[in-house]
Amino acid sequence: MHEPDALTRELMAENETLRARMAYLIEQAERNHEIMCRHQAFDLQIVGASSFPELVGTIFRTLPVISELDIVTLSLVDEEADIYTVMHKLGVDFEQFPNLLFCEQAVELGFDLADGKRLRPLLGAYAPAQHCAMFPHPPAGLQSVALVPLMRNTRLIGSLNLGSTDPNRFTPNLGTDFVEHMGSIIAICLENVISNEMLKYIGLTDSLTGVYNRRYMDRRLLEEIARARRQGYKLSCMYIDIDHFKRVNDTVGHQGGDDVLREVSARIKAELRMSDALGRFGGEEFVVLLIDADLEAASMVAQRIRASVAGQPVDLGTGEQVAVTVSIGVAALSDFERDHAIEGVAQDLVATADSALYQAKAGGRNKVVTVA
Ligand code: GH3
Ligand code: MG
Ligand code: MG
Repeated sequence: MHEPDALTRELMAENETLRARMAYLIEQAERNHEIMCRHQAFDLQIVGASSFPELVGTIFRTLPVISELDIVTLSLVDEEADIYTVMHKLGVDFEQFPNLLFCEQAVELGFDLADGKRLRPLLGAYAPAQHCAMFPHPPAGLQSVALVPLMRNTRLIGSLNLGSTDPNRFTPNLGTDFVEHMGSIIAICLENVISNEMLKYIGLTDSLTGVYNRRYMDRRLLEEIARARRQGYKLSCMYIDIDHFKRVNDTVGHQGGDDVLREVSARIKAELRMSDALGRFGGEEFVVLLIDADLEAASMVAQRIRASVAGQPVDLGTGEQVAVTVSIGVAALSDFERDHAIEGVAQDLVATADSALYQAKAGGRNKVVTVA
């Protein structure tokens, strides 16, 4: 075989270059396709999240992996701390989410909020002094960051903060379409789960006192009886009624009466364990479910509640004070009820506590009566 001439050699070299270039482009296309698929799967996952902890958990767990980031944090605007309070009451464990941050005002997020301009992500070098609020626990070697505004309509609800140890990952001149798209989906999902959780909370609680409502307690009672049977622990129930509450209303007015209801709820709650459930059953009546407490333990708690309410008059917003007492009936689930239907057992338990309460009233009020 003779040596290729110069022209052939040149064509062969060019061919090589083109092949290499082509291989590179194919590799890039495959890589982009893969990233897109991972992000589509992520989008589906967050759209499908049915609760606030599930959504933020998915964001913190998945986004750093699929986007190859060294840190992801989420700042939420929570003006009256409503979101925090409701999530806390619904049992969200914030210690699980150290990168979930709350701020009182949208201006704290560092975007230019002047004259309703469309907000753009802020990309650039990490500056500790400027970014400490968004990255309170920055990873070692954090170099570049992207702060993505989360908007719902024209309202800034938070920001998604992405960080990388690669200084070239987020530079001011980089295109932001991709992160903006991600931000808009996350904003929709956040607003969705937050309003769902708010509705859940409103449906379960009494708006005056913030304790559970009767609907919730009826359901919880069935769950707890089933669990107490399965796991073999004691369950007790208290029925609490404020004494002469009509008189209280007559003396300090309905508004003052409402203040008393709030204060009495707070004093009851202060004597309970986290696992117990307190509900307002209507008017000035409360029911408490004590988990893993026998009659003796429950009646000690009831005595503490009685003493705490009677011990100090209630301060009304107006500076007035009013003395209040409560009567309490206590009952416990007994072993022989194991074979009965749960609904009947639940009714009996509350009815027994209620009849004990009746005896406490008949016995002179400001009393605890326990029925074995
Ligand atoms: P007893 O010691 O026998 O329990 O007397 P009582 O006056 O507390 O009994 P009763 O159950 O007859 O009265 C309850 C009163 O509670 C009647 C009602 O006006 C008042 N009440 C019910 N719901 C509310 C409320 O949401 N706010 C206020 N301020 N009062 C309420
Ligand atoms: Mg009553
Ligand atoms: Mg009463």
